[in-house]
Amino acid sequence: MKITFLGTGTSQGVPLIGCECEVCRSTDPKDKRLRSSVMIEIDGYTYVIDTGPDFRQQMLRENVKKLDAVIFTHEHKDHIAGLDEVRAFNYLSGNEMPVYASARVQEALKREFAYVFSGVEYPGIPKINLHTINTTPFEINGTMFTPIEVFHMHLPVLGFRIGDFTYITDANFIADEEKEKIKGSKVIVLNALRRDKHVSHYSLEEAIAMIKEFSPERAYLIHISHQLGKQAELDKELPTFIRCAFDGLKIEV
Ligand SMILES: [Zn+2]
Ligand SMILES: [Zn+2]
Repeated sequence: MKITFLGTGTSQGVPLIGCECEVCRSTDPKDKRLRSSVMIEIDGYTYVIDTGPDFRQQMLRENVKKLDAVIFTHEHKDHIAGLDEVRAFNYLSGNEMPVYASARVQEALKREFAYVFSGVEYPGIPKINLHTINTTPFEINGTMFTPIEVFHMHLPVLGFRIGDFTYITDANFIADEEKEKIKGSKVIVLNALRRDKHVSHYSLEEAIAMIKEFSPERAYLIHISHQLGKQAELDKELPTFIRCAFDGLKIEV
């Protein structure tokens, strides 16, 4: 399975509009972070988890010509805003895009993209086939996805385990039963917003402590804000098995 980090930034991305801080002014391409999303290539199929506001740019950068499904973690705008762009893949494949989301996330999609779900087939609108998921494992083209329910303050968010790979964004609490699903993962991706504590995201210290509970072979931090610092400096201070992910990073699991 090949994983591509499409974006590794927090909701506003890095740099932030109008910010003059050292991180936002950095010339290191690894300090340019689009909104968090990951692409998974397995058995000849390609999936993305979340379609944030930068989805179009991410698909162009990675030269993606075929996308077999979209899976959503939760309904915040930085994770769903790019959904309209799946129409490019409708044209290429001639098929509807399978979209996997919980009932609550589907309600938000229907509200935010009312024209897609109105039943009026206006020419050029995205064609989407919704599949309802909950915390029960589900299969797409023979690949098992195990949802992991995590909390983003009070909001339940789904993380996903696919084989030895676990992807969790937008969390600051994981219940013990859900931790059982993560155990044994070789590679864990987890959000780490900044150094200071935050109401709905793990801080750097909390993320490191959580990763250590699972002792994976490798772990990558995502959903990073400009407050966390520059990539080159962060990598020096982290334990060697934990790296800060960066946009365009590709790993094999
Ligand atoms: Zn987010
Ligand atoms: Zn969120």
